[in-house]
Amino acid sequence: MFNVAVYSPHGSFVIRISSFVISRINYGAMPQSRQRKVYLETFGCQMNQLDSQLVSSQLRALGYHFTDQRDDADVILFNTCSVREQAENKVYSRLGELRDKLPGLVIGVLGCMAERDGADMVRRMPHIDVLCGPGELDKVPALIDNAVKTRSHQIALQGNTHRRSGTLSAAEDQLELLDLSRSLSPDDHSGSAYVRITRGCNKFCTYCVVPFTRGAEVHRPPDHIVDECKKLADAGVIEITLLGQTVNHYVYDHGASISVGGVRQPQVGPGGAAFKQRDAYLAGRHVTTFAQLLRRIHEEVPAIKRLRFVTSYPRDFGDDVLEVMADSPRICKYLHVPAQSGSDRVLKLMNREYTAAEYCAFVDRVRKYLPGVMLASDFIVGFPTETDEDFEKTSELMRYCRFKNSFIFKYSPRPGTVAIDRFEDDVPEEAKRYRNNHLLAVQSEISKAIHESMVGRTVDVLVEGASSHEQKGMRDLGNRGIRESTPGSKVELGWEKPAATRTVTQLSGRTEGDLIVIFDAAGSGEELVGRIVPVTIHSAKPLTLFGELAEQAAGV
Ligand code: SAM
Ligand code: SF4
Repeated sequence: MFNVAVYSPHGSFVIRISSFVISRINYGAMPQSRQRKVYLETFGCQMNQLDSQLVSSQLRALGYHFTDQRDDADVILFNTCSVREQAENKVYSRLGELRDKLPGLVIGVLGCMAERDGADMVRRMPHIDVLCGPGELDKVPALIDNAVKTRSHQIALQGNTHRRSGTLSAAEDQLELLDLSRSLSPDDHSGSAYVRITRGCNKFCTYCVVPFTRGAEVHRPPDHIVDECKKLADAGVIEITLLGQTVNHYVYDHGASISVGGVRQPQVGPGGAAFKQRDAYLAGRHVTTFAQLLRRIHEEVPAIKRLRFVTSYPRDFGDDVLEVMADSPRICKYLHVPAQSGSDRVLKLMNREYTAAEYCAFVDRVRKYLPGVMLASDFIVGFPTETDEDFEKTSELMRYCRFKNSFIFKYSPRPGTVAIDRFEDDVPEEAKRYRNNHLLAVQSEISKAIHESMVGRTVDVLVEGASSHEQKGMRDLGNRGIRESTPGSKVELGWEKPAATRTVTQLSGRTEGDLIVIFDAAGSGEELVGRIVPVTIHSAKPLTLFGELAEQAAGV
């Protein structure tokens, strides 16, 4: 038996696990960080990366320091992902390594695993001190502080309460304050940043835990989003990626908006139903649609040179969004629109609500509006009952759509989803593995052709930092991924000038279409990070382009 402090939208209380509520405790005292050092490891998607940034920014403001050495930390936090079992297993293995932790060390599990497993996780692993779901991350500092002070478990989860009426959820939405209080210094980024526009998901694909772990789709007020983009631009950010699980479902109804304490609140989105009868839904309402939001950011924050968004849901992608993309030079001609399968039968079982033909027609429409657009997709292989024929249709769809890359996953049955209850996981592991490898090979052929078509062209590259290859052999110089070359990485620049020996750094960046480009820069290359530079492509591999700075190529 042990004490657990629980924070929920209904209030806070302490329970004795396997017992009943024994007392209330006070939530809200500001933590005393006492120079605690935090190790934070992030698993999963871009949304989790952003969540980690927001939590770090909050902890830093309270005086916490960060370390990348787990052994050096007073607080170890794992921001977790539940989408596939494999992702969860990695976290369990990390937690297993910490079973014999020193007294005083605080261990916290944040994110989707905390929300999905709940107090059960603490029961199985009592050395976990803090559990915090993705909808409660604003409470992390208080949870850590209470864990230190009271030596009791601290749990903040949303449970099912966040699927209540839109007005109620919005009025209690504390998480907006986390986004609003975000602080970013020029040293915290490499020119790029994420901005959340929606949280959660109303879609309920049968295989997916996200609607259960992240809750209802909640849309942020457009003014908050535009202001955040301006703030990031002021801190030197030139590329923003707008985030949402079904990002193109964004719609904010100004008529239904409410303010609490002078802060305009987010609101639960209408979901797919509004898009099926779009005109009827929009009639008489004063709303900001996704297309209008894109246009506002493009026009009001011109310092953002690249505006992207992920992840789009194919069925509800209106021409209005494509028109804005076509008209706006700073909106990247890139879309990540997961297809998941090419078989209508499997798509139906997945509850994706489109057919393969409709998906392909969507791709045709995108290419008509945006010639040269780069597309990316996700696929699940080995979904229950998937036959060789179904799988062949997926390969066909992939060949037709010519994605620049695809993320391919073997179906992983997830507790709590419709699929695990309704369908037996009947595709043998061997067949899943074969289909995974086969689809990867098909994608690799397409990616290679797309990458090879870029050879000889000069492309604009936003430099992210040292390439992963370079990072392996280098000593860290800071938090931008720029590393000092070890003596071993000195190179001779050609036989014509044997005396001209200098250090070069291999840098990595991305094109507007999200293709990865590797090139060499003199010295540390640090001055190029976060800038857009022209690179002439001289060779290509399926996943990467190689080139040289256009000035160098021209002998400048
Ligand atoms: N919201 C996005 C969408 O609608 O496509 C994707 C979000 S999900 C976190 C990322 C990807 O994980 C999905 O596109 C899907 O391919 C994959 N995924 C989700 N649940 C899965 C499961 N149970 N097994 C295997 N892959 C899964
Ligand atoms: Fe999951 Fe489907 Fe929502 Fe994407 S749209 S997060 S796959 S339920």
